[in-house]
Amino acid sequence: MPSADDLRRILDRIDGRGYKAYHEIKGSFEFPRFTLFVDHVQGDPFANPSKLRIRMPMSEARLPPDWFDGPVRRMACEDFLARCVSTAIGGGESYRRGSGKSGVVQIDAGAQEVLERTAAVVTPDWIEIRLQLGLPAAGRRVLGRQAQAMLCRDLPRIAESGLCWAELPHREATRFVECIENQQAIRGRLDELGLVAFVGDGALLPRASGASDRPLRGSQAVPFASPESLRVSLSLPNPIERPDGPGREITGMGIRRGVTLIVGGGYHGKSTLLRALERGVYPHVPGDGREWVVSAPDLVKIRAEDGRRVERVDISAFISDLPQGRSTRAFCSEDASGSTSQAANILEAIEVGATGLLLDEDTSATNFMVRDARMQALVHKEFEPITPFLERVRELYDTWGVSTVLVMGGCGDYFDVADCVIAMREFRPVDVTDEARRIAASHATGRRIETRSPLKKCADRIPLAESFDPSRGRRDVKIDAKAIDLILFGDEVIDLRGVEQLVDPSQTRAVGNAIHLATRRFAKGGATLRQVIAQLEDFFDNHGLDELDPFHRAEQHPGNLARPRGFEIAAAINRLRTLRIRQGPTASE
Ligand code: ADP
Ligand code: MG
Repeated sequence: MPSADDLRRILDRIDGRGYKAYHEIKGSFEFPRFTLFVDHVQGDPFANPSKLRIRMPMSEARLPPDWFDGPVRRMACEDFLARCVSTAIGGGESYRRGSGKSGVVQIDAGAQEVLERTAAVVTPDWIEIRLQLGLPAAGRRVLGRQAQAMLCRDLPRIAESGLCWAELPHREATRFVECIENQQAIRGRLDELGLVAFVGDGALLPRASGASDRPLRGSQAVPFASPESLRVSLSLPNPIERPDGPGREITGMGIRRGVTLIVGGGYHGKSTLLRALERGVYPHVPGDGREWVVSAPDLVKIRAEDGRRVERVDISAFISDLPQGRSTRAFCSEDASGSTSQAANILEAIEVGATGLLLDEDTSATNFMVRDARMQALVHKEFEPITPFLERVRELYDTWGVSTVLVMGGCGDYFDVADCVIAMREFRPVDVTDEARRIAASHATGRRIETRSPLKKCADRIPLAESFDPSRGRRDVKIDAKAIDLILFGDEVIDLRGVEQLVDPSQTRAVGNAIHLATRRFAKGGATLRQVIAQLEDFFDNHGLDELDPFHRAEQHPGNLARPRGFEIAAAINRLRTLRIRQGPTASE
């Protein structure tokens, strides 16, 4: 294999030549402590940066084996290493050397959430990091000397300080992995404890601003403290710092299965709590403030999303007898309303396995949530197609086992159907369940129950593979994530603004590619959407995310993907405007 010196010589030789000459460095080079793979050379200085990998043998990196032992620790340690490499790269303009992307070095490290991602891979034998690097140019001419400095001087430094145990901050590294393992241990125990979520005492839920996901610092941030009646105590696999010294016990508020209401005055922290629960499906970095907010992995945020497309969803549980006799057992719309979109969001989430729904009155359609006594008197039920959520929320749990956590400051009719009512008062939760029950008993709502019929099993939905076309122009496959909430899939735009539990643009990239992978491999033979998503999850469990790259070849890895949940992949499929669905048999009864 060519050596680092060979690389230096090539760069000397092509100095000053046209940019295409950089293609000569494609391949692999043996450095003293690692192998450098140049997988993809960008076409010009303004194109997407080149793709490189550094693979360092474990005999050089010398990570302690128990630090990355088992899938949870390995995911955490890979995530941690990507962050260390990112720190080692540093940032800012000092790295720019020439035109276009010249001099840029990037690794796709995470933010507040810790996700399975492709930026770093740790095996017992080696560590690999995947980098994006802008090969330097003046105009469109190769800057060979600068390239030498980047590849032969800076990269070894980055690799050493980001990957070698001797250079890493040991305490922080250990704490990071243990913290993630603790969170996953809590998540793994929620089910047996009958909980849908846990919010640890001392957690800091508010964020620095609407535009920043970092914690709100300073004295105005009120730490979470569970009401005594809802407090649970859990034992952890790793010790944590507590006010009374290190220990393995953590206490906090357990949110039980069933129907939970979060009430309280405006601006008292209701939505902040709910948002923490939404994000709590993922582990968080130590110091985030939400590292002890742990939700069941299959909680799905539901909101109204008018304008979205809906393709053959049975929303008859909530909406029936639309004007002009339109069916709602196979409801289609190019432009759903607030209430029909919210109903579709619920049924689609349950279809692919949600066991809990998170709703906020701030982002719900009022007429979907309630219909009070006076409105019942004025608008006769014959003319109201909506069965409000209020009338189904208990049944969702009793019949289908689907729990709900609902922020509701504006409508006490929900007291009748709640198992637990938590009031937020000045950012502190109070258990007001008994009081709410008393009030419900003494203040009748005057509502009539209008539910038309019990919940029925929905028909299976079978996505038709030919309705997914990733081609654009002359390209057979062109899928781009333009933003965290926007995918271009072939000529189609998938709008994910209503899908609030995507937390990383690299997840969005993965979602776009996952749709393609799913339709090539799994959407056949009458497979239902639920089955397609389950097969995808299995595939990721067994093969990781590398094969999501449509151009994936054995030795060319995509370095900027993070694992999305099946729910978000299904959500993107359901929002694709070309999607066509065939319904299974239950619909025709
Ligand atoms: P609500 O939904 O009850 O109207 P929000 O959750 O939107 O209230 O919170 C209102 C404001 O209070 C937000 O700016 C939020 O960041 C801040 N906030 C929420 N929780 C806390 C807390 N524990 N400590 C300090 N500020 C908080
Ligand atoms: Mg709110």
